[in-house]
Amino acid sequence: MVVISGPSGVGKSSFVKELLGAGLDLEYSVSATTRARRPHEADGRDYFFLGRDEFSRRIEAGDFVEWAEVHGELYGTLRSETERRLMSGKNVLLDIDVQGGREVRKAYPDGVFIFVLPPSLSSLEERLRGRGTDPDERIRLRLDNALREINLGSEYDYAVVNDDLPSALRRVASIIVAETSRVSRRLPMKST
Ligand code: ADP
Ligand code: 5GP
Repeated sequence: MVVISGPSGVGKSSFVKELLGAGLDLEYSVSATTRARRPHEADGRDYFFLGRDEFSRRIEAGDFVEWAEVHGELYGTLRSETERRLMSGKNVLLDIDVQGGREVRKAYPDGVFIFVLPPSLSSLEERLRGRGTDPDERIRLRLDNALREINLGSEYDYAVVNDDLPSALRRVASIIVAETSRVSRRLPMKST
């Protein structure tokens, strides 16, 4: 499991898009959410967009590895997106919040946990406004939550500042290459 977290607007979706085409043998786990679809998003590619009732039904059915309320909406990682891929030896990429990151760490302690930081809070606000997808009150809510999320970043294994996108991407790719090359992941462990 490769988990990417960080405050809203820091650049996680931009990372995911680029990382999937970077020859790292990563497959993206598409989450489910109750939030409204943004104009450029496609159902089943960016998220599975579900109504609240359907989301609750899927919680009851045990369909989620983890789920959480984030910025007033529900988001969850579907077992159907992760388990089959992990069983067949694929690296699975998750873009989830810090609450979800905690839960995934419990279920998959050998995952790789990467936290993405903005160069500053003002640049975070600029990116959220520049993206043009959220009304003002949603931007305020996301910025209010940003500091709390950044404080929980200390639970992650790696911190990457997304200053310049191509150079931040190179750093994330290096982490993934190094982690997937670990002897413990590549060679059978000797029993002593
Ligand atoms: P997140 O998925 O973390 O909410 P996005 O990937 O949607 O964030 O990025 C938010 C906005 O910031 C987008 O408009 C994106 O193009 C822009 N962005 C991403 N990385 C950078 C960067 N390094 N410098 C400037 N703008 C960036
Ligand atoms: P957005 O609405 O901007 O796409 O995402 C808002 C937040 O929800 C981001 O922090 C994103 O990482 C998080 N998120 C997306 N999918 C999931 C998920 O499946 N589980 C959890 N816990 N958070 C998610």
